[in-house]
Amino acid sequence: MTEASASRVSFFSKKELECPVCETKFYREDILTGRGRLIAGELTNELRRLYEPSQKYGEVNPLIYPVTVCPGCYYAAFSQDFFEIEDGGRTEISNDSDERIRAVRDLFDDLDFREPRRLQEGTASYYLAMRCYDSMPAELSPTIKQGISSLRAAWLCGDFHRKSPEENFDYLSRVFYRKACFFYRLAIEYEQNGKESIANAGHLGPDMDQNYGYDGVLYLASYLEFYYGPTTDEERRAEALRRAKTIVARLFGMGRASKQKPSAILDKSRDLYAQIREALDEDGEDNGDNGAGGDDPTESTE
Ligand SMILES: [Zn+2]
Repeated sequence: MTEASASRVSFFSKKELECPVCETKFYREDILTGRGRLIAGELTNELRRLYEPSQKYGEVNPLIYPVTVCPGCYYAAFSQDFFEIEDGGRTEISNDSDERIRAVRDLFDDLDFREPRRLQEGTASYYLAMRCYDSMPAELSPTIKQGISSLRAAWLCGDFHRKSPEENFDYLSRVFYRKACFFYRLAIEYEQNGKESIANAGHLGPDMDQNYGYDGVLYLASYLEFYYGPTTDEERRAEALRRAKTIVARLFGMGRASKQKPSAILDKSRDLYAQIREALDEDGEDNGDNGAGGDDPTESTE
């Protein structure tokens, strides 16, 4: 590594890529790891890994690089999927180009996907991916990828809000959390009815540092339901919370039987279970769930 590149945190691919939608040619940017660029900090309850800024490299945010974005038409997908687009999807994504560019520029007015990415390009990349996966084939498990993209967009908007509290990014963050809740719920439904697989989706993160797999998806779906699920219809809310409670109870219940589960999932599921249970009790919505006996999901540890 030369002196000039020693303090860089990313690099552009040597090989030129060609966008499968609009044929724009560009170079893909990727993160450089190692040499103390990433100093791992706390793991949040959303299974996000936080990083401490290093003296030499400052703040490094690995989340802003995984989505490949065409700088011409703003077609975006996780890098492993970028060329897996099919003819029908290609036409849809091509027809949506003007609208897609306009919509993302409403959120961020000075995007440049040919230069080293900043937080705005990173956040925009997930918004664009969320939109483009609508037109991707079911074999690529687009729905859970939309969920992961929404969740990461929510995180990055939260980062923005901490830097510029007056710019309403906390509002946008909540919008993305609610979308994430919707997509995680839908992805589990599709997994159960065989429409789309979650297990074959590859890295489910939700962050870059570790893959919490299907357990992570179940935990997050419950977490998002609790914090960001729809609340207008009280009965449906209570039903959604009871379902979430059963799921997290199974997660830490099974953990007692098998030692395979990561302790983060076990501990966080147990905490979430207690919170949901309290919310249901407080609302007086928990009737019959614990009282009648034999229906407490924690009792089945198979
Ligand atoms: Zn393009």
